[in-house]
Amino acid sequence: MSKTIVLTGAGGVLCSTMAVELAKQGHHIAVLDLKKEAADQVANVINKNGGSAISVAANVLEKESLVEAKKVINEAYGPCDILINGAGGNHPLGTTSNPFLEPEDLENATEGFKTFFDLDPKGIEFTFNLNFLGTLIPTQVFAQDMVGRDGCSVLNISSMNAFTPLTKIPAYSGAKAAVSNFTQWLAVHFSKVGIRVNAIAPGFFLTDQNRALLTNSDGSATPRGEQIISQTPMGRYGTPDDLVSTVKWLCDDGAAFITGIVVPIDGGFSAYSGV
Ligand code: NAD
Repeated sequence: MSKTIVLTGAGGVLCSTMAVELAKQGHHIAVLDLKKEAADQVANVINKNGGSAISVAANVLEKESLVEAKKVINEAYGPCDILINGAGGNHPLGTTSNPFLEPEDLENATEGFKTFFDLDPKGIEFTFNLNFLGTLIPTQVFAQDMVGRDGCSVLNISSMNAFTPLTKIPAYSGAKAAVSNFTQWLAVHFSKVGIRVNAIAPGFFLTDQNRALLTNSDGSATPRGEQIISQTPMGRYGTPDDLVSTVKWLCDDGAAFITGIVVPIDGGFSAYSGV
């Protein structure tokens, strides 16, 4: 059955692939992103390939902008059946320069070198808002369409670092842990009104967001990139296509009894102790 699926952050790398693949199943796709041009491009690809998509510019942190987007989507495709909360990301001001604090770091501090003590609350706030409130607020707006209707669900995007925090990125790790926790809370809260709530926890995907951290300009791996691959038993980064089958499964009515789970898609990263 054809559904109306709203994806936030769908102008980005991972959710644009989800949008394109879900459209191939005959669903109506609302490509929502802060960047209108990026959303337009994804919707154009879908429509050119015979699918059905509209692009909508909206900010996941501004309820009014989401309410306006919902009006446009409802007019085009009727009520929202599935919401995929894909908008998210990190901020450099919430990231330390090194994985470990060394005794000499405070004495030798130079411009641009950030220890835990230099983290800027603004960077932490940005990251928590974007990932956590940026999941909660769109759900407040779009899940209203789902109450009491069959076949509706919310899919959040958590991360590997929600289970065990990665070094250097305390804000992003904490924010994604909040997304996983919220997924469980909301699954329980919505259990009587027929809305399932699940999440995926992608491992490491080489995207524009992390390319500079993981690869050198000649394409070789940075030490952090090497470390990630060595801790991933399957020995490679994920590709956006690796997420698609799980997303389709969790959005499908066949998953009618599945709610409140966070599925790792990580090439074995979370199962591996490193020894
Ligand atoms: P991306 O940067 O390519 O896409 C994110 C999109 O969100 C962008 O198009 C951006 O314009 C949009 N966006 C940012 N702020 C917004 C706002 N306030 N309102 C609306 N849209 C906004 O990132 P991606 O790699 O495709 O990541 C998608 C999701 O997957 C994110 O939640 C990310 O945290 C998560 N994730 C990514 C990885 C990875 O390795 N890339 C791993 C685990 C989880």
